[in-house]
Amino acid sequence: MQRTQTSPDRGRAALGPALALIHSGAAPTRSVLTSALGVTRATAGAITNELEALGLITVDARPAGGTRGRPSHRLAVDPSGPVVAAAQIHADGFTVALAGLGGRLAEPVDLPMPDDPGPARVLAAVVREAVRQAGADHRRCVGLGLAVPTPVALPDRTAVAAMYLDWPSGARIGEELERAAAEAGLRVPVELANDANLAALAEHRHGAGRGARHLLYITSGHRGVGGALVVDGRLHTGSAGLALEVGQLTVDPNGRRCPCGSIGCLDVEADPPALLAAAGREADPARTMVDQARAVLADAAAGDARAQAAIDHVVDRLGLGIAGVINILNPDRIVLGAFHSALLAAAPERLPQVVARRSHWGRCGEVPIVPAALARPELAGAAELAWAPVLADPLEALGGPAHPPRAAGAP
Ligand SMILES: [Zn+2]
Repeated sequence: MQRTQTSPDRGRAALGPALALIHSGAAPTRSVLTSALGVTRATAGAITNELEALGLITVDARPAGGTRGRPSHRLAVDPSGPVVAAAQIHADGFTVALAGLGGRLAEPVDLPMPDDPGPARVLAAVVREAVRQAGADHRRCVGLGLAVPTPVALPDRTAVAAMYLDWPSGARIGEELERAAAEAGLRVPVELANDANLAALAEHRHGAGRGARHLLYITSGHRGVGGALVVDGRLHTGSAGLALEVGQLTVDPNGRRCPCGSIGCLDVEADPPALLAAAGREADPARTMVDQARAVLADAAAGDARAQAAIDHVVDRLGLGIAGVINILNPDRIVLGAFHSALLAAAPERLPQVVARRSHWGRCGEVPIVPAALARPELAGAAELAWAPVLADPLEALGGPAHPPRAAGAP
């Protein structure tokens, strides 16, 4: 007998999309959720009951007051619901924090690199800290996500160019992470991805990129420049996960030498060491590049003309790079990571002017360029990666079914 899709089946298929809307804050009430999903009120009620029974959300039956129109139940993520472990590896060490749904990060723990900074030891240290934090928390931990400062080639999940980590190119870090989790007895899904990609995803869901349809994200950590594109809520990865390597765009043919072998790449013309060099300052190996770049920004704010000239020099090259990407991708919003946000604040008119002068779409469309809103976007993005299986199918990921609306004993 041909079986048509029944209402409960449709309800199950909508659990993930419904949770994603509540997770991102896009559906604060059941009536908003009902229209966003295009389902009946009864179906929306069954969906929210199911998510509540899974311990993922709370449904406040008291109608939201003070609004016009039909009152509706308020929806929120359940603060005592499951968590994931979010981790980030960076040039100076690694960071781990537990994260609830709704982009709620607990206090992150920063740790130094192990003595042997090869991928196996570093990934094992990350897993150990995640296991420790999960064991100290009463909530159920359902996944581990890790942001790494290297492009990750798909489908083998190999580190392609960990230029600032000294990891061998081609290291199979996805498998290494799974091995480390198995050895530590961590029996939940574990996954890793490029840090700029994950930061862009987090800014799109919870930060300055909310509502953008074609979000371009440009960022710099301690060294180098990364980029990512989120289209209709999904990362544009390219054929092998390596799209949007904006760092290797040439922005000055007579510029600085890049570790990639080229000259004048955005990577070396618009990162913290580039600002130090433009200001004529020697890098101090005892201090982080970010701190030394902040000192140049502070001096410029205090009226130091040479520091301001250095900022203008770097802003011109950053603007050239952004303009080139705008011409090709036609984004509707550009979000800048922390260092570039500081440059934008130090040259609020110059950067948009350079971008507009050098880009056709920038000139006629005035693409907004805004600072990132999240305190730790890479870590928040690692949490998004860990939540992916739950957002795709909550029942499958959490080992349901709960089905509270059905009578006990009913099939
Ligand atoms: Zn390069």
